[in-house]
Amino acid sequence: MKKLFILGNWKSNKTMEEARVWEQSFMPDIAGRTQDITIIVCPAFHHLTLFANHKGRYALGIQDISPYESGAFTGAISAAMVKDMVTYTMIGHSERRKYFGETDELVSEKVKRALDAGIRPIVCVSEPVQAERLHALVPAFSESGLILYEPLFAIGSGTSDSPENANKTAGFIHDIVPVPILYGGSVTHENVQGFVREEYLSGVGVGGASLDPKKFQALISAVV
Ligand code: PEP
Repeated sequence: MKKLFILGNWKSNKTMEEARVWEQSFMPDIAGRTQDITIIVCPAFHHLTLFANHKGRYALGIQDISPYESGAFTGAISAAMVKDMVTYTMIGHSERRKYFGETDELVSEKVKRALDAGIRPIVCVSEPVQAERLHALVPAFSESGLILYEPLFAIGSGTSDSPENANKTAGFIHDIVPVPILYGGSVTHENVQGFVREEYLSGVGVGGASLDPKKFQALISAVV
């Protein structure tokens, strides 16, 4: 049976107090599961210290990482600074590509820093050609990376891609980079099962529906 990943991306949301409440009420019920499921919570950097007691319940990730080593790079969080706190880092989300001008080259530098620090990179792509460039720029990515495939029209729109379409694109991507591929874009507890059943999809990335701990739990329960 394939291993599944369920990633929650909080994006630019939550005060410390809101994050504290979320952390205290998030109790994913994965008892009785027959499948290997990894839950990855990706809050904002400053929330990480609230997650000291999450061990064993889920993995922690961040939403971005510096393309540079530690040093004189004001405002940047380097992989070395957080490698003791997180297991995963998202890289190249379409919002970062759109609003912060991130290119495939910059994404590849971030992937290299993450790999060097032993953090598993989860690279977001909205089309297979981005996976192709990633593979060409950082062949080592395929050793421990994951891909989060998110078609632009589906992100935050309330209209997801169909599981069949998402699986087809994931199949193309898998032929280029044979790593676990997650689907993201308006996933909810109501539609998640369709995605995780597909051959080339190894889980889902969840934005809006991960902000409410109960909704995120319901989504996880639907998968379990
Ligand atoms: C995302 O942007 O990573 C995402 C999956 O968002 P949403 O679930 O809100 O569409």
